[in-house]
Amino acid sequence: MSVKSIDELKRIMRSDLCNRCGSCVGLSDGKIVFTDREGKFRPLVIEEPNEKESARLLNACAGKNFDFPEYRKQFYADTPGFHTYTGPFHGIFIAHSNDEKIRRAGASGGMISAILIYLLKSKQIEGAVVTGMSKKKPWLAESFIATSEEEIIEAAQSKYIITSVNEILPEISAFKGRLAYVGLPGQVQSIRKLQKAGDKAVENIKYIFGPFYGNTLQFSSVRSFLRSYKIRDYQNISKLWFRYGEWPGNMRIEMTDGRSVELPKFHANYLIPFHILKNSLLCTDLSNEFTDISGGDAWAPVYEERGKGFSMVLSRTPEGARILNEMESKGLISLSPITADEAITMHSHGYDLKKRGTFIRMKFRKWIGKSNPDYGYTVSGFPISRYLMEFVINALFVVLGTRIAQWTVEQIPPSTIGRVFEKTRNIWKKATFSIKRENLSQ
Ligand SMILES: Cc1cc2nc3c(=O)[nH]c(=O)nc-3n(C[C@H](O)[C@H](O)[C@H](O)COP(=O)(O)OP(=O)(O)OC[C@H]3O[C@@H](n4cnc5c(N)ncnc54)[C@H](O)[C@@H]3O)c2cc1C
Repeated sequence: MSVKSIDELKRIMRSDLCNRCGSCVGLSDGKIVFTDREGKFRPLVIEEPNEKESARLLNACAGKNFDFPEYRKQFYADTPGFHTYTGPFHGIFIAHSNDEKIRRAGASGGMISAILIYLLKSKQIEGAVVTGMSKKKPWLAESFIATSEEEIIEAAQSKYIITSVNEILPEISAFKGRLAYVGLPGQVQSIRKLQKAGDKAVENIKYIFGPFYGNTLQFSSVRSFLRSYKIRDYQNISKLWFRYGEWPGNMRIEMTDGRSVELPKFHANYLIPFHILKNSLLCTDLSNEFTDISGGDAWAPVYEERGKGFSMVLSRTPEGARILNEMESKGLISLSPITADEAITMHSHGYDLKKRGTFIRMKFRKWIGKSNPDYGYTVSGFPISRYLMEFVINALFVVLGTRIAQWTVEQIPPSTIGRVFEKTRNIWKKATFSIKRENLSQ
């Protein structure tokens, strides 16, 4: 007997396969809603959609499957460059906005915001789907359609807690005009699925951009961070930044009564093993492969020493390449080309995590009977040392993800745990350097 679409959808919603992209909520006409946004943040069916509606929602779900080769053929047939790790590309660049205000407002080089502002000002779009912090609940992220430079800048910078951009699909389809869309890989993949199906809900989306994606954190990370400073009333947060100040920036929280806490980004990364959204570990897309242009941090000592903010960007479609060319020729951005090998070396940690680690983790999951997403490709043939390394990382995530481990770390001042975390991470990176880099670009 074939499984009903709604039953399959419910199974995904309850499992690690759900990336919280928000498509099922946005397309359901109110029949599916997000619950517990400050906790597990899961979609819940409150009124059962019929089979036709459910089939549409299931088809839009990239948590279950997203066939990379098929979608590459569909959207990137004319793209000249390709590597399994980077995805398709026309050009790869170290880049930044030449407008100091935009560059400073951005997470790295302000590239994504600069592109959106350029498209808006040159009347190539009328709006941009972006994700800022909620006005009503400033501790939660919220997606909206920006129609001015100020709104785009307001939504700049990375939000490392769960975001569900596609729940605003009703606003996207009702918008009068052309849109640029910014989303994480799982969110973008769902938009591509809807585009391939010719779904009217995404008709207004002309351009797709997106940040690189290592991982997302559960909202418990913010609560835990505050508890470490003996602050329990997180609902009195007035402002929350994950990348405040000079690149790479600080995690900073301001409270309504004037209290504030701040920790360098690399130290605040201690929260990752304690609060990581498990779905992040099932994603094989570091550099947002199905966008027109994607951007990440240009992690290399030569740029980090200079501060100010540098991005690594990939143009992936002819339109993406055209936009970067136009902006460069108008002096709006600076671009220095790099090769795919240089890009992979710069992000060796991230590519190893996504393009090797994820496939090993999926093997582990299969052994214990858990289901995996189907990406239509696999990467295999890693040395046994890489499997062992993954086993250690997974065991750590399991132990550190428990409430008792989270409570224990909250008793230590974040400045101490942050420093210890960064030192330990550097030691770990050095110790595993050769395992991670071995044949990485092949
Ligand atoms: C969850 C997450 C994980 C990341 N992991 C990595 C990593 O491992 N390695 C790496 O090099 N870079 C990573 N990045 C990307 C990096 O932090 C910067 O976003 C990227 O360098 C682009 O910087 P920018 O200055 O060009 O972007 P900006 O000009 O700051 O624009 C960023 C745009 O992204 C949108 N946005 C921000 N957060 C989200 C979100 N959570 N969901 C949807 N849209 C969002 C904003 O609305 C804005 O339009 C991550 C980003 C996020 C959000």
